[in-house]
Amino acid sequence: MTAALLDGKQLAQTMQAEIAAEVQAFVARHGVRPGLAAVLVGDNPASHIYVRNKRRACEKVGMTSWLHELPASTKQDDLLALVAHLNTDSAVHGILVQLPLPPQIYEPAVVDAVSPLKDVDGFGPVSLGLLAAGRPRFLACTPLGVQQLLIRNGVEIAGKHVVIVGRSNIVGKPLGLLLMQKAKGADATVTVCHSRTPDVGAVTRQADILVVAIGQANYLKADMVRPGAVVVDVGMNRLPDGTLAGDVDFARVKEVASAITPVPGGVGPMTITMLLHNTLAAARLQAGGGA
Ligand code: NAP
Repeated sequence: MTAALLDGKQLAQTMQAEIAAEVQAFVARHGVRPGLAAVLVGDNPASHIYVRNKRRACEKVGMTSWLHELPASTKQDDLLALVAHLNTDSAVHGILVQLPLPPQIYEPAVVDAVSPLKDVDGFGPVSLGLLAAGRPRFLACTPLGVQQLLIRNGVEIAGKHVVIVGRSNIVGKPLGLLLMQKAKGADATVTVCHSRTPDVGAVTRQADILVVAIGQANYLKADMVRPGAVVVDVGMNRLPDGTLAGDVDFARVKEVASAITPVPGGVGPMTITMLLHNTLAAARLQAGGGA
């Protein structure tokens, strides 16, 4: 069997066109343009690329974006003061503080400082708490992108066994919570594996839908996949030769799976698209819930 490709690049284009139309309608109705403020601390090259791509995507769909660049030596209090200012700036609907932050800054303090109404990354405790309580508001962009990729490709999630490898606060954990929601596009039976799971393969072989998010190139081998399973690869690993590899051994696993995401061109473009989705949702929330 050769798996069908779950093409995130194509779907991201389609969804960004939909969001652009919704942004236009929002501007026409409210006379306000949805706006995202990005905060970048230090000179991590990957972070610079991520933020540049996110800002470009914002502008492409007609949103305003601002970049606040701070030196690597920035003190935590100065970053918190900037976040406090952005929290009160009514032109700013979403705030994105690019992680990782330099070591002198305690990341949770910054994540907690972002207004829950502007938490378009969905990393804050209020966003996560609402998700856990079954009343999601802002969903973390990568989990939401994975769910959309499945739904829009017609993959049935309800009643399926979803196995997620990785339990980070930004991918594995919120994805598990999202797909177990009592809701449309969810209702899955979810199992989450991590580094202390003794025999990961024994668990992954039970999956109807298998999501891997651990950060180890080509980790998931074909013998860890039940024939016909749907495989989603969240991993983005830079190899010594400069190329990008996922967490899944794509060449072999595609012969076993019924559908699979490529890397690049799978989950990555969906993550950026969901940031746009969340920023528009934040603008709507702050405008009082209208279109
Ligand atoms: P992370 O914070 O490093 O978490 C990795 C998780 O994987 C942890 O829960 C860890 O377990 C688990 N793990 C590590 N090795 C394992 C193993 N051998 N077997 C089972 N579980 C194992 O990583 P992350 O931020 O979630 O990112 C994961 C990957 O996704 C990275 O490649 C990252 O670049 C990529 N990513 C991509 C996107 C995108 O848009 N495509 C977005 C975010 C992240 P413990 O908890 O026990 O340590």
